[in-house]
Amino acid sequence: MTKKTQQYLYDMGIDIFWFKPKPFLITKLNNDNLLKIEKNIEGCKKCSLHESRTNIVFGDGDSKADIMIIGEAPGQEEDKIGQPFIGRAGKLLNSFLSSINLDRDSVFITNTVKCRPPDNRNPENIEIQSCSNFLDRQIDVIKPKVLVLLGKIAANRMLNLDKPISELRLKKFYIGKYNMPLIVFYHPAYILRSPSQKLKVWDDLKFLKSIISANGC
Ligand code: URA
Repeated sequence: MTKKTQQYLYDMGIDIFWFKPKPFLITKLNNDNLLKIEKNIEGCKKCSLHESRTNIVFGDGDSKADIMIIGEAPGQEEDKIGQPFIGRAGKLLNSFLSSINLDRDSVFITNTVKCRPPDNRNPENIEIQSCSNFLDRQIDVIKPKVLVLLGKIAANRMLNLDKPISELRLKKFYIGKYNMPLIVFYHPAYILRSPSQKLKVWDDLKFLKSIISANGC
């Protein structure tokens, strides 16, 4: 069995006792403009989330990624380490990506807010707005060809809508300030809670693949 298959099974939650998983890649940001934004976020007190954070979770991955993935907000593990999607939802996200031959470090992953909301509550609109300038600057530097919004909270707040996830998936959205389509996926944390929906993620992934092929990403 190849290392890649072993990692894939591990990411799916299937234990193989002889396999020691790769530790999460802590990708060093290798782009001065991203480093500048990260520096600007240091010590940010624009919203009340700063009061309870341990670490700011800036995001990581390829600074020239064609695909940028935007989750909701850092959770407990992410807050502890300062990296996005490193808990169970992150492992599932990795397995989604590898099922369409994408490595986690070939995309850029971040969140609508860079600090963990207390008790993992949903981020408030005002918190997302306070953080939006940082996200916009990240998008401006990375210039992805597509933005993938994970889950209905991130999607509705980014798109200024209030719709159920079923009306948001498998569609391309455009908003004035961005030069690329936004698409919506089920959030991997939702799939962990409702594994019967897992097959539907395949439709999300196929939709992403069709956009990547059409754009020549
Ligand atoms: N869920 C998110 O939306 N973001 C993370 O970084 C981790 C879990």
